[in-house]
Amino acid sequence: MAVQEFLTQARALCGEAHVAGAAEIEPRYLQPARYGAGQAAAWARPGDAAQAAALLALARRHGLRVVPQGAHTGLVRAATPQDARRDLVLSTERLREVFELDELDRTLRVSAGWRLSEINERLAPLGLWFPIDLSADPSVGGMLSHNTGGTRMLRYGDVRANTLGLVVLPAETLGHDGPLRLGQGLQKDNSALALQQLFIGASGSLGLIVEATLKLSPLPRQRAVALLAPRDTAAVLPLYQAAMARWGSLVSAFEGLSREALAAGLHGQDLSRWFRGRLPEYALLIELGSELPRQQLDLAQLLQVGLEEDLACGLLSDAVLEADEAVWALRHRISEGLRAQGTVIGLDLSLPRRHFMALRERGRAWLAAHWPQARLADFGHLGDGGLHFNVLWPREAGPLAPGQDLALRQAVYAMVAELGGSISAEHGVGPQLAQAYRAHWQGLNPALLAWSGRLQSLFDPERQMGLAEWGLEAMTD
Ligand SMILES: Cc1cc2nc3c(=O)[nH]c(=O)nc-3n(C[C@H](O)[C@H](O)[C@H](O)COP(=O)(O)OP(=O)(O)OC[C@H]3O[C@@H](n4cnc5c(N)ncnc54)[C@H](O)[C@@H]3O)c2cc1C
Repeated sequence: MAVQEFLTQARALCGEAHVAGAAEIEPRYLQPARYGAGQAAAWARPGDAAQAAALLALARRHGLRVVPQGAHTGLVRAATPQDARRDLVLSTERLREVFELDELDRTLRVSAGWRLSEINERLAPLGLWFPIDLSADPSVGGMLSHNTGGTRMLRYGDVRANTLGLVVLPAETLGHDGPLRLGQGLQKDNSALALQQLFIGASGSLGLIVEATLKLSPLPRQRAVALLAPRDTAAVLPLYQAAMARWGSLVSAFEGLSREALAAGLHGQDLSRWFRGRLPEYALLIELGSELPRQQLDLAQLLQVGLEEDLACGLLSDAVLEADEAVWALRHRISEGLRAQGTVIGLDLSLPRRHFMALRERGRAWLAAHWPQARLADFGHLGDGGLHFNVLWPREAGPLAPGQDLALRQAVYAMVAELGGSISAEHGVGPQLAQAYRAHWQGLNPALLAWSGRLQSLFDPERQMGLAEWGLEAMTD
């Protein structure tokens, strides 16, 4: 009944075409990029920030939990509704009223519903971009709420590092009537507490982001890419150090790829083009980028000369040069290639670089002892410590046993805690991680959890916003 009343009032607010009850919700709003579909009581797509504010108030009055949803490309189910009786999917697709560029400050004020690709297509003719780069096409609000990293984080930082201000609708209005502006979009500003930082990475749990002021970067005029075969895994970190010492901030990506991941990315291709058909145990993707034109600084030449030094000193055994697009294409095909072979359990980890290779080795040893049929097909953003610890359970091994996924997470998370890492690097926090959080994560201290819970309660005392829980209660059954 409450839902019927909500739907009637929401239709009057947003228009017939932009509100749906459970049975009429289009599948894409329920089906995430990975894992099974969710369920909801209602779906609504407000046309601007004022409608969004009214919709939040309406949802609160009817006791609905609001699940903000951008492009629905998140990987932890945080935008996928769960409860068929009380979840409202609030799609931000129509929050597009602001797109205001300041070329002198190199900032962009933009509504939360814009997609990354749309922003960068508009900025490219001006020689600017928002420097987050990934193989999905997220919304501004989704990127902020998961603090997205991506392949060029090493050079530019994550979304947090490239955000100068937000406009939010807090879950509980805290006595504030309209939207709350956090940060003035300035490069320097210490005039108030930087509360915008709390909303970045909060997985939509503190309120709805309706607008952001983003920091833009000059668009690189050239890039040079190589795929490297290190002498062995012991040479990987020395190669990283040599690259950073030699090229510094010109290094825009430094990715690691296990042989399994590489093979998945190259599936169906003529392998003779790549290391004469003998894939290394671990490969590296390096990219240099510069705003200077090639006539002033020849990156391809620079890369080749440096890599020849690495070959000469024995750190490197082979390199594929001048195949920039093909190299990135194979990198972006890995996830899809792995899923074609069986079930993938993906852990989004982050480690101090010095422990990066050690975690791989420990994980591999654990798999050999406990799950000999499984294969470790890890890859990731080695340059920023991000490791996609993907375990491939091949189709021919049959279905996973109940609890098998959790046993793996338990073992790997214990290793991560011991090595001072994180179990959520760049994909955010959501229900996909909740069970593992509750059961096995020892890396967070109780005081931090207690403060996080208190803050969440301040913004959202009734827990009517988002699916992430940050407090101690999230850790206990
Ligand atoms: C093929 C593929 C590759 C990917 N590669 C990477 C990668 O390299 N690096 C990386 O970091 N991520 C990656 N991702 C994950 C994903 O793209 C990012 O997490 C992305 O930022 C999510 O944005 P979205 O608009 O799709 O958000 P959604 O999935 O719609 O939502 C994500 C979270 O944000 C919340 N939210 C959405 N909009 C708002 C708003 N306006 N206000 C408040 N909360 C909001 C949701 O409730 C949810 O908690 C990848 C995903 C795919 C499918």
